[in-house]
Amino acid sequence: LWLMVLIAMAVGEDVKYKDPKQPVAVRIKDLMSRMTLEEKIGQMVQIDRLTASPDIMQTYCIGSVLSGGGSAPLPNASAEDWVNMINGFQHGSLSSRLGIPMIYGIDAVHGHNNVFNATIFPHNIGLGATRDPDLVKRIGSATALEVRATGIPYVFAPCIAVCKDPRWGRCYESYSEDHKVVQAMTEIIPGLQGDIPVNSRKGVPYVGGKKKVAACAKHFVGDGGTTKGINENNTVIDKHGLLSIHMPAYSDSIIKGVSTIMVSYSSWNGEKMHANRELITGFLKNTLKFKGFVISDWQGIDRITSPPRANYSYSVQAAIQAGIDMVMLPFNHTEFIDDLTYLVKTNVIPVDRIDDAVGRILLVKFTLGLFENPLADLSLVNELGSQAHRDLAREAVRKSLVLLKNGKNETDPLLPLPRKVSKILVAGTHADNLGYQCGGWTIQWQGFSGNGYTRGTTILGAIKSTVDPSTEVVFQENPDSKFIKDNNFAYAIIVVGEAPYAETAGDSMDLTMIDPGPSVISNVCETVKCVVVVISGRPIVIEPYLSSIDALVAAWLPGTEGQGVADALFGDYGFTGKLPRTWFKNVDQLPMNVGDPHYDPLFPFDFGLKTKSAPDIVRRSTSAGIIGRPYALFLMVSVIFSLCFIG
Ligand code: BGC
Repeated sequence: LWLMVLIAMAVGEDVKYKDPKQPVAVRIKDLMSRMTLEEKIGQMVQIDRLTASPDIMQTYCIGSVLSGGGSAPLPNASAEDWVNMINGFQHGSLSSRLGIPMIYGIDAVHGHNNVFNATIFPHNIGLGATRDPDLVKRIGSATALEVRATGIPYVFAPCIAVCKDPRWGRCYESYSEDHKVVQAMTEIIPGLQGDIPVNSRKGVPYVGGKKKVAACAKHFVGDGGTTKGINENNTVIDKHGLLSIHMPAYSDSIIKGVSTIMVSYSSWNGEKMHANRELITGFLKNTLKFKGFVISDWQGIDRITSPPRANYSYSVQAAIQAGIDMVMLPFNHTEFIDDLTYLVKTNVIPVDRIDDAVGRILLVKFTLGLFENPLADLSLVNELGSQAHRDLAREAVRKSLVLLKNGKNETDPLLPLPRKVSKILVAGTHADNLGYQCGGWTIQWQGFSGNGYTRGTTILGAIKSTVDPSTEVVFQENPDSKFIKDNNFAYAIIVVGEAPYAETAGDSMDLTMIDPGPSVISNVCETVKCVVVVISGRPIVIEPYLSSIDALVAAWLPGTEGQGVADALFGDYGFTGKLPRTWFKNVDQLPMNVGDPHYDPLFPFDFGLKTKSAPDIVRRSTSAGIIGRPYALFLMVSVIFSLCFIG
């Protein structure tokens, strides 16, 4: 018998955590019973890829690695380069004493936006305009495939902020000012992770296989409600308001099996969310029964004190006691590890709290199948930037467009535009600029300007391939008045808006378009019938120019598939989008949300003009054809009869 036990031990049969046939709870319990305090604390640490190495992964039993905003791009990297980098770190983790795999996370917030050649979908504000949860779910599935194509099992998305003030630099990461729209869009979670099986226990994370990823609902909670939209600032609202506006999308995400939740840099009524035990442990974990792990934001715990890192040990204590399970530590993991170890050894933080955190982290890792399949492969590489995903993004773009004005009066609509005319003008800073079209969080944290950074179709490119070959398309970013007058343009398409930004860099108190946008509008629209397409992460100042504009389209930040814009402008598809947020007249009115007592918008929440879609147009012409046929026959017979008679 002893011999058998020894043999069993040697082949690892009694190592329950390694046995996929054992229930996950049994595996977690078994693994945790073998872990030292140091190994447990290591699991709670997420380091940046720039500070990670296989050696560090092994030495500290590090739980996770991230590509953060600044470290996200791997210049000119192929999917294979990503897979090799990630597997390198994983080999380090697997060679640690217990061989616990690490989990790699990345901000894939509108497609796999850090990766060259990936499909870039519209930012969330545009998806909010579609009001189409099924579309958003399909985008989640496509994103999961592209992310997995580079060997990554975890995304820091979706952002389910309810942005109450467009001055916030992250407003475009929010689906809507209306929490019900945001709630509907949490359908992206089953898209990313897979549909949670019926009869699942509430709050338990779910990921449905190797083509899906673990999601992260962020930033908990009230990130979109800060005063004047100042990023990472204070959200002043009573508990009822917080629970009824900012919380419902978290309840929905948990019901849909979201794996992780990220804490917000912001404060609630003056208290930093990263130290808020009442909301993280009390509400999220106890009341909502969330069983996945709670992750801090990037250096989020440092910012518990003001100035940041004023008392790091206190910050560590406050964050872990509040209920944060995994901590994003781009620079100082050893300091964190030392501080937390000391706090546990001196009984300031109970071991139970550490066990709760590690149990949750391991649950997500087991759910993801990382113990069975820790290494990435290239089996999904063809999913990256595939035609099917680009077609889906194009569909999303055309459904995200909101038509705000169509003709100077109702009887004279400008859209849809005719394809066959002699000459048209395309103008504006944003007409031929893929970087502007994609916005922040694309290839680089702050986005990029121009073309050549990634593949895609600019709006100019899309217009050129949509018009009749005989139509001359003249492009000038900033044409002068004489040029406009000297040419006989049938109409002009002007594309203007904001330049890319991310997070605090995007906070803006004036919300203007970049120059020379306003003068292009006034020069062109004075002479030629013009449609203005606005590329922006939020409503911007447009009222002063509105009377000169013939047609106005809000295109948000559409991403790489500019063809979707041309599809709607030229009537292949109708405009169907609705404003996901209020369009203000002037910034003095802000914040202004639907339902406010003195609501006086330029265009209200939900507004959006419709045009006929292609099927309608086709149907109309077909029915005209059918109805027309007897008349034509009658006419022909009459003519022949008359001719015979005359003859
Ligand atoms: C952002 C998060 C993001 C994290 C990692 C932070 O600055 O607030 O949304 O997930 O960086 O890149």
